[in-house]
Amino acid sequence: MPAATLNKPDELVFLPLGGAGEIGMNLNLYGYGGKWLMVDLGISFPDETMPGVEIIMADPSFAAERKADLVGLMITHAHEDHIGAISHLWPRLGCPIYATPFTASVLRLKLAETGLLHSVKIVEQPLGSRFNIGPFDIELISLTHSIPEPNALVIRTAAGTVLHTGDWKFDPNPLVGQTSDFAALTRLGEEGVDALIGDSTNALRAGEAGSEADVRESLIELVGRYDNRVAIACFASNVARLQSAAAAGAAHGRQVALVGRSLWRMEQAARENGYLDGTAAFITDEEAAELPRDKVLLICTGSQGEPRSALTRIAGNDHQNISLDAGDTVIFSSRVIPGNERPIGRLQNQLAKMGVKVVTDDEHFVHVSGHPARDELSRMYQMVRPKVALPVHGEARHLIAHAQLAEDCQVPQTVIIENGEMVRLAPGPAKVIDQVETGRLGLDGKNLVQLDGGAFKMRLRMTFNGSAVATIVLDRRGKVLALPQITVHGLIGEDAEDTMSLTKAVEKAINGMPAGAKMEDEAVRETTRLAIRRMLSNSLGKKPVTEVHVVRV
Ligand SMILES: [Zn+2]
Ligand SMILES: [Zn+2]
Repeated sequence: MPAATLNKPDELVFLPLGGAGEIGMNLNLYGYGGKWLMVDLGISFPDETMPGVEIIMADPSFAAERKADLVGLMITHAHEDHIGAISHLWPRLGCPIYATPFTASVLRLKLAETGLLHSVKIVEQPLGSRFNIGPFDIELISLTHSIPEPNALVIRTAAGTVLHTGDWKFDPNPLVGQTSDFAALTRLGEEGVDALIGDSTNALRAGEAGSEADVRESLIELVGRYDNRVAIACFASNVARLQSAAAAGAAHGRQVALVGRSLWRMEQAARENGYLDGTAAFITDEEAAELPRDKVLLICTGSQGEPRSALTRIAGNDHQNISLDAGDTVIFSSRVIPGNERPIGRLQNQLAKMGVKVVTDDEHFVHVSGHPARDELSRMYQMVRPKVALPVHGEARHLIAHAQLAEDCQVPQTVIIENGEMVRLAPGPAKVIDQVETGRLGLDGKNLVQLDGGAFKMRLRMTFNGSAVATIVLDRRGKVLALPQITVHGLIGEDAEDTMSLTKAVEKAINGMPAGAKMEDEAVRETTRLAIRRMLSNSLGKKPVTEVHVVRV
């Protein structure tokens, strides 16, 4: 379908390709005046239906096909679900990237690792600034979250005005960076907003998310209770939390070490932008290993049980410098991200078996969420008073709860959409006007593969059913010249007897074919395939993916 029939140039449209109906891999598009603005380009993590895949992301084809009209990519903040796909997908898009200084620092460090640093044009914009990207007039409004510099975007066009909240909460004392700019939100509400596109992560949770300042106080008290080594696992990007862990160490005469590569990357980005001023330099894990056990506090990556993270390696006794023993303590200053229950459980059990005390937010106040709970959402709607609320950044239950809350806050219209649905936001009322093709890509080794595509479906079938390969050698008239060679993967053992009975069954099936059919390769292939599948289905109850090679001599 040509672009012109999708949306008219005088309409302001919104089109999420990722991040609607899910938490992760955000990829939003705004269209106006024949141009497109992309907001965020993030990743998600695979589930058990994606064997071999490291990370997943939205398929950007719709935007890539309109590359000439893609005026820029605006990044709201530096979390992986908002910037993680840039290194993988930017080559298909080629547009300039706009970000505030801390986000730009994080992005540069990531791009340097993939060799893209000098190809990508990064336009740094100060906090609270207003600038144009093509026909879009953008204003940044500082909010608070669980990383420095979370920005809401006011997107103004001649057709209408949108507030894209990004991820946010109202933390009265975020410790690092600015507090939420209520004055700007109130002014915007007075000016008039057509639509608010907003974070739904905690729309089911009553009250408020809570403040980083309270977590700091609690961590300082908690670390004082323990002897021996203490480790704190948290997200590397939560710079306020790193600073709080550092404060907890300092309060109890412990030197503070960073253990894990992503922590050092975030530390560098934070220091470049003045966010760790006043926090003493961290020590390395090598230095920590030399200190008495009660004189060190370790900050570790791995709060989600990630397989190659520092904490997972330490728990597996596989870290080159750091070990934990009975009597040590690990504090998980984090929440369980849905889907990670099993790896986290495994890690915590492994630590418990070693005699390490495990403290989580079930037992103690060691974490606050970075997303708005219901009272904060209500306050936002009271200030901004949009004509339309369009919940994103949440699963179905979160989106529905968010929409209901917006209605309770007197928002005249709410719209819930899925990835690929194009909504006209203005001139109003909001309406779904088209549906574009969407999909997901997975990083599979060095390759980006279509997760809904043929090759990957084959991988899944092989994972669940096993596979078999047979080679049949015949002469031109169909006489079998050698014993069929059959290899079965992932089903039966190396047992010679099993393979021999399979070979016999195949030989018998081919010999039983009509003379004419034996001369056709396709018929021989199909007969062989059926013989193998029938036999394995009878003996094992499995029908493997079966490949047959026919060789005529
Ligand atoms: Zn997010
Ligand atoms: Zn975030």
